Amino acid sequence: MSDCLFCQIAAGTIPCDPVLQDDEFLAFRDINPQAPAHVLVIPRRHVAALTDLQDGDGDMMGRLALMGVAAARRLGLDDGGYRFVINCGVDGCQSVPHLHLHVLGGRAMSWPPG
Ligand code: AMP
Repeated sequence: MSDCLFCQIAAGTIPCDPVLQDDEFLAFRDINPQAPAHVLVIPRRHVAALTDLQDGDGDMMGRLALMGVAAARRLGLDDGGYRFVINCGVDGCQSVPHLHLHVLGGRAMSWPPG
């Protein structure tokens, strides 16, 4: 989608600070990090939100999670641990309507989330 921010980042028309990428996904540093390590993993294919996923997207979501695991490993987060977050919709606090996995680490997290 030409007017989607993360589609434009995936296409390389808007710059990012990449951590990992392959044909299907791009992992890049969040522009407004909420932890010492904060990476977003996006599918290159436009999916607006979790609510748009179909039954056939299970394998893609598994690979998205594995890309997040690989990004966390690349950032040296395995020993301390880290958190995955996917915000969805207004109540979920999603601000960019292109599915993305947050990978946050480098500090102790709190629970419950605000
Ligand atoms: P969410 O609120 O879950 O939709 O998360 C969107 C995330 O995208 C936020 O953490 C933003 O800081 C981040 N973000 C927005 N624009 C950019 C950008 N150009 N490059 C990297 N991260 C961005």
